[in-house]
Formats: sequence, structure tokens, C-alpha cells
Amino acid sequence: MAEFFVLGAGMVGISTALALQAKGHDVVVLDRTSPGLETSYGNAGIIQTEAAEPYALPRDIGTLFKYGVGLSNDVVWSLGATLKMAPALWRYLKLSADKPYQRISASYSQLAARATADHQPLIEASNSEHLIRREGLVMLYRDQQSFDEAATRAQRLDREYGVTSRTLSGEDYRKEEPALLKTPTGAVHWLQSWSCSDPGALTQAYGKLFQSRGGRIIQCDGAQVTQAAHGWQANTAEGLLTAEQIVVALGPWAPAFLQRFGYFIPMVYKRGYHGHYDAPMALTRPFLDVENGVLASSMTKGIRVTTGAALVKMDAKANPVQLERGTKALSDMLALGQKVQEPQWFGTRPCMPDMLPVVGQAPRHPTMWFHFGHGHQGFTQGPTTAELLLDVMAGEQNDLLSSLSPDDRF
Ligand SMILES: Cc1cc2nc3c(=O)[nH]c(=O)nc-3n(C[C@H](O)[C@H](O)[C@H](O)COP(=O)(O)OP(=O)(O)OC[C@H]3O[C@@H](n4cnc5c(N)ncnc54)[C@H](O)[C@@H]3O)c2cc1C
Repeated sequence: MAEFFVLGAGMVGISTALALQAKGHDVVVLDRTSPGLETSYGNAGIIQTEAAEPYALPRDIGTLFKYGVGLSNDVVWSLGATLKMAPALWRYLKLSADKPYQRISASYSQLAARATADHQPLIEASNSEHLIRREGLVMLYRDQQSFDEAATRAQRLDREYGVTSRTLSGEDYRKEEPALLKTPTGAVHWLQSWSCSDPGALTQAYGKLFQSRGGRIIQCDGAQVTQAAHGWQANTAEGLLTAEQIVVALGPWAPAFLQRFGYFIPMVYKRGYHGHYDAPMALTRPFLDVENGVLASSMTKGIRVTTGAALVKMDAKANPVQLERGTKALSDMLALGQKVQEPQWFGTRPCMPDMLPVVGQAPRHPTMWFHFGHGHQGFTQGPTTAELLLDVMAGEQNDLLSSLSPDDRF
């Protein structure tokens, strides 16, 4: 009997397995496919130290109206999915108000602040330095007012959380980024963020590291996992296995799995798309074209363009309208070249209404642990919240751990 099953082999599950293993536990990772093939594969690959504050739901009528009538490329929505998510969205809206948002950011900023330091030993041990760039992340603005607001916010983030940045005129940033075809209004360069040229490969490298240290990764669907008299059993591709405890790290699939155990987890499912482009010139560093809601980053397959949020059902067919609109709008700024022909990827950001990942013991199952709901920043936070989960397991108590605990959250 193993000590732990970790269900889910994305960045969050693999990081959990490594953290448990480092404490001497015998761990089996279960996944219906292989490590790093889902959300942790197709994201923008930024290790987001600048994300000291989570994405709030805008509360001003103007922005909500723009979302509602499809005037913004940041968000698209379908009626059926939005109605289904309405209770979670309502809570998300309420918690985006200034006061709760400040409280939430006080926890969130602590995750962002240590993210690179928590990735670094894993990057080193998994020989993944070649996948990492430490050039920061740029937000490019085309509009003077939003640039001015961003510059003010950047100063505030430095003051409040120590997130450092440079604010540059469009002319000055263009000198640093030869790939730009025209001069933006301005740029905020977040200095401490890192980027990864292949997020799936990094997750897989962490998975190989776990295996090289004696861990097992075995194919198994969550439907085959059941509670047994003394722990958990799984009917896997390699036969029946048992473990004393289980960590649920299924990202956007966690609520579906947990329903069977009587947990109804409110989640906001924010789908995003990516496309790769055979661009003539690589980027100095990734940038977000803020007004067009797309991020461009040089990756192993070309420039990867990733989109904002589509509020659609998990099983909705691909409809990459934001990718098409975003790349069209981006093309005056960047020569993208031919689109790489590949099946259309999409993935879902598993967002909790209170914007914080869920890290802790299942309220009614003492041998089950929750580790999911990392929303926009799970690639960043996986190793950090894995360490925090270990702290919870060790009986530590503090304000940060309480804010991430599943207790009283659903
Ligand atoms: C377009 C886009 C861009 C993003 N950019 C960034 C970024 O730049 N930086 C950042 O930090 N984050 C980013 N994110 C968010 C980040 O990708 C996610 O928060 C993170 O990948 C979640 O990791 P996870 O391990 O929880 O989930 P996943 O990576 O999805 O892993 C879940 C695992 O569970 C497995 N699974 C699912 N169902 C079952 C089942 N029934 N049985 C067994 N196994 C199952 C899957 O196969 C998968 O391996 C982005 C997301 C999107 C969509």
C-alpha cells in the first residue's frame, strides 16, 4: 500500500508528488493520460511573480457592458454556461469589491512572491534551465489612459508587495524589442517574472524527476478510484492499487470528481485558447497586448499566442474566436507569419470565486486532501502551494493556510 495517491498530473499534481516525496512519502500519481498534457501544457508559460493580485471581476458597469455585448476580446461567454455558473460568478463579483479583494490579495501576493524561488530547485534538479528565461514580462498599452493607470498601479504594487517594474515609453520599448512593427503608447516591464518556452515539457520534466527519485506515475481514470475500508483503491492500467491517503489535484476536473463524495464545488471555468505562429523573429520577452487581450511568447513551436477567458461549458466545442480576433488585431504590432497547423488546443483555468486556490484537508474525509482551483496562475503557483499543503499536513496553522483551507468555502 502506498502512502499517497495524487490524482492529476498537471503542474499542481506533479509538484504535490515531488513535495510529498521529498518528505519521504511513498507516492503514486494517477492520471487518465500522462503528465502535463492538459491545462499545464497549453498555457502562456509565465511564472508570474507580478501577479500579486488575482484577476478580479470588473465591477464597473462600462466594462461589464462591454463584456456583455462582446465589445472586449478579454471575455466571451455563452448563455447556458454563464447561467450554470451564475452562483459562482455572483460570489466572484461580490468578492471583487475593494475590501474583500484586499484581504484576498494579502494571501495571493504571498504565493506570487515565492513562486520563482519554489520553482528554482525543481528547474535545476530536472535539468530544465534551457526552458526558462528570466527576462520578465511586458504589458504593452495602445491607449494613453490605460497606460497611465497601469503605470500608477505598477508603483502601487512595488510599494505594497515589492513587485518591481520599469515603465517605458512606447519609443523606448520598441528599441528593446526589434520584433515590434509599430510603436505602442507605452510598456510596463515586470522585472521579476520568468517565462517558460514549453510549459508542458517543464511539467513533464518535473514528472521525470519524481520518477527518477522512485515515484510512480500510473494511468488511471478518477472514475476508477474509490474509498476503501482503510484508505483508497484505484483500478489502474497496472492493476488494483491502494493508498492510505489521496490528494485531489485535478484542476478544472476536480468539481466533477468530488461530486461523487458529496462536495459541490463552485468553480468559474475560464477557457483559453492558444495558437502557434512561425514568426520571422523571436521576442525578447513575452508581452501582453492589453487592449486586445492576447499574450505573445516565443516558445519551442513558434510564437504562442494565448487568449483571455471564454465562459463556456467544459465540454463545449472549440470556438477560437478570441484567438482569431486577437491575432488579427496583434498583427499590426507583430509579424506573426504562418499559423502552425495543429489540432486546436484549449484549456480551462480552474477559478474559485474567491480567487484563491484550495489547499487543505477535505472537510468530511480525513484521508482526502484538496489541491486545485489555481485559476489564472497554477503554472506559477504549483510548487508553492504544494509546499503549503505539506505545511497543512504537518499541522501548521497561520493566516495564509487558513485563507486557502477548504473549510467554510463551499
Ligand atoms: C490560455 C491559458 C493561459 C494560461 N497562462 C498561464 C500562465 O502564463 N501562468 C500561469 O501560472 N498559469 C497560466 N494559466 C493557468 C494554468 O495553466 C493552470 O492554473 C494550471 O495549469 C492548472 O494546473 P493543474 O495541475 O491544476 O491542472 P491541469 O494541468 O489541467 O492538470 C489536471 C490533470 O488532471 C487529469 N485528469 C482530469 N480528469 C481526470 C480524471 N477523470 N481521471 C484522471 N485524471 C484526470 C488531466 O489529465 C490533467 O493531467 C493559463 C491557463 C490558460 C487556459
